[in-house]
Amino acid sequence: MSSDRLAFARALYDGVPLYDPKRAPVALDLTDNTNLWGMPPAAERTWRALPVSRVTRYPSLYSAELKDALAAYVGVPADYLVTGCGSDDILDSAMRAFGEPGSLVASSEPSFAMIPIFAQMNGLAYAGITERADQQPDLDALLATRPRILYLCSPNNPTGALVARATLERAVREAPGVVFIDEAYAEFAGVSSARLALEHENVLVIRTMSKAFGLAGLRVGYGIGHPALVRDVEKSRGPYKLNAMAETVALAALREDATWVADHAALAVTNRDRLADALRARGYAPLDSAANFVCVPVAQAVAVGQALRARGVAARPFEALPHVGDTLRVSVGPWPLMEQFLAAFDAATAEVTR
Ligand code: PMP
Repeated sequence: MSSDRLAFARALYDGVPLYDPKRAPVALDLTDNTNLWGMPPAAERTWRALPVSRVTRYPSLYSAELKDALAAYVGVPADYLVTGCGSDDILDSAMRAFGEPGSLVASSEPSFAMIPIFAQMNGLAYAGITERADQQPDLDALLATRPRILYLCSPNNPTGALVARATLERAVREAPGVVFIDEAYAEFAGVSSARLALEHENVLVIRTMSKAFGLAGLRVGYGIGHPALVRDVEKSRGPYKLNAMAETVALAALREDATWVADHAALAVTNRDRLADALRARGYAPLDSAANFVCVPVAQAVAVGQALRARGVAARPFEALPHVGDTLRVSVGPWPLMEQFLAAFDAATAEVTR
């Protein structure tokens, strides 16, 4: 395939990469922070019994039924919700909805790797502002960029750090534009900023059913914000975006699987802290995490990642993160899988540092 630009292509797209998290298949994949306990039971039953009409007919326009169920789950009125094809779709649609061509998206870094790509895809400028040594966003520097869109992720991917409530509240009060608060991992943190979306009209809280709900393959995400704000995201997103199978299964999960989801999120938290302890016992200093993964500084993380892969285990390496250096981000799941990881990690680090 030629990389030459087609005569009719937008110049802007030359600089847009395809997302490549280097996720080649492996026996034990701990790279994507999905639910390693599997799919919730009512969701699975519903999935297996889906009527053919869910395939042959169009889905609902804007997922009204799902919004009602999400409203009950989150504790906001249904008109504060917009659904999407994964929270990726919410982020992308919202950037299109609120960014005039060339206006600025500012994000704390390191954070979700898709943010600069979504900005570029939508013809927006991007400023990444390095976080402070305590893993908190440098809010003064972020606000100084006067962003049209300010992105904060709490708990943050890849560090796991929860953004201080006072920082989020100040961001919402002082930002000149819209504040996106990405809560993909909120269920593991046990706190949410959904209330901020009820109190301020410039907040979009972004959530997903890909992580705690175990439905990543169905692509169900949602945004929470003032009704006028989420309606614009909905216009930008377009109709029929959430497919009918996803909507039906997600509804079952919200109506019948809440206990399963909460129990397994609690298990993930227990095993996360146990994994962090096991790493500390080996002399490592994992970062404090409020999510379902552990980010641990490891010298030569890319080489260690390759040595892990050679043993059938994948964790996501990050090179030279500010203040902490190379790290591995490890998704948390059932303890036997964590033991498998630790055994491979011991062998891999021994091989790399030999
Ligand atoms: N936000 C964050 C912080 C994430 O880590 C991810 C997934 N890696 C997403 C959003 C997108 O998730 P999804 O599109 O599956 O909802």
